[in-house]
Amino acid sequence: MKLSVLQALPNIFRRGMSSSPANVTNGSRSQVRGPAIPWFHGKISRERAEQLLSPPFDGMFLVRESTNFPGDYTLCVSFAGKVEHYHIIYRNNLLTIDEEEMFDTLAKLVEHYQRDADGLCFQLTMPVTNKVSVEVCVDTKAFKDAGWVIRSNELELGDVLGKGEFGDVVLGFYRGTKVAVKTLKDPHAVQMFLGEASVMTALRHLNLVQLLGVVIDGPSIFLVTEYMDNGNLRDFLRSRGRLHVTKRDQLFFSRDSCSGMAHLEAKKVVHRDLAARNVLLSDRMVAKVCDFGLAWDINLKTDIDTGKLPIKWTAPEALKHNQFSNKSDMWSFGILLWEIYSFGRVPYQRIPLGDVVKHIEKGYRMEAPEGCPPEIYDMIRAAWEPVPEARPTFNDLSSRLESLISGYV
Ligand code: ADP
Repeated sequence: MKLSVLQALPNIFRRGMSSSPANVTNGSRSQVRGPAIPWFHGKISRERAEQLLSPPFDGMFLVRESTNFPGDYTLCVSFAGKVEHYHIIYRNNLLTIDEEEMFDTLAKLVEHYQRDADGLCFQLTMPVTNKVSVEVCVDTKAFKDAGWVIRSNELELGDVLGKGEFGDVVLGFYRGTKVAVKTLKDPHAVQMFLGEASVMTALRHLNLVQLLGVVIDGPSIFLVTEYMDNGNLRDFLRSRGRLHVTKRDQLFFSRDSCSGMAHLEAKKVVHRDLAARNVLLSDRMVAKVCDFGLAWDINLKTDIDTGKLPIKWTAPEALKHNQFSNKSDMWSFGILLWEIYSFGRVPYQRIPLGDVVKHIEKGYRMEAPEGCPPEIYDMIRAAWEPVPEARPTFNDLSSRLESLISGYV
């Protein structure tokens, strides 16, 4: 049996741990940031960096992705009540601020300036730690060691199945079976992309889309998963509608996605982007949750301003305070149930996106979709409790959905 990437190389895939920047290894761009670099804040704005560095303290610092020079970084240092922003140039696999001292990792660069100001306004002293105390880094070696690598010559590519966040999803053939292949357009997204893959290596459940492997030996990186003949649940519900989707189908879709989520809950993985568009249907109409990209990318979620949050699916505490949990996933599951019973309608259709949270905070909740059984609407309403702890667990709802199913068979 294949190991998960986590089991294979625990020292490079860390959650909730921090370690000395000296642990950072050399190598590909995906490793430039290092495995545990608490002062790295990802894509935050200049203004956000300045907020984080206040109240000011000489030498307090953080590193962010450069907004003016995509692909480069910025070192922000507090000094004499102001913040200096130093451009870190990334060129030929090396990082530099002054084009004299070169470093192969951000961690080494920071270490250097922690020892000596060397031209900066002040020696780096206190790091501003990324509030979400989770740091993850993956590299391709972990996939090789854990047996998750598929050779590119073993894979044949076919038609485009859909558009993904990182690139197209295409049909593939691998060892005589159809597979889905996620391609990566933007090489800068490699870390996030492989992050998604590494979360998937640790998860195996009938109702979660199964990762088969990654292709890392060619010019592009591919993520290979099981092929789901009937595409995503939202498009399926919309195209088939009331005439073809039965009450029984709806109940099975609900139970299946809930079981997949109960597995994530048991493994303490938070999905963060649960929605009908991220549930896929197999040839036998088994619903499986997919798209663990956001489950991994913590930095993305530390900055609500990135505009990447699926507002209508995201719990209010997650939108307002970045409090993502299995309970915020439960809120999204309530929306997913609503989508299933409304045959794929857009939630809060008449409310402008910017006003949704305001309405919810005032207590507004969507009505039951036409024909939705009261037991299901009770679950939906329970999932939308304002206090996260008052919402049910996926494990609870799985049993309740299972007992509704036993009424059908
Ligand atoms: P991303 O998460 O990067 O946005 P998705 O995983 O949502 O990409 O994929 C985009 C679309 O591609 C899906 O909505 C679906 O239609 C299609 N797709 C993705 N994965 C599969 C798969 N395993 N089998 C069949 N179609 C798929």
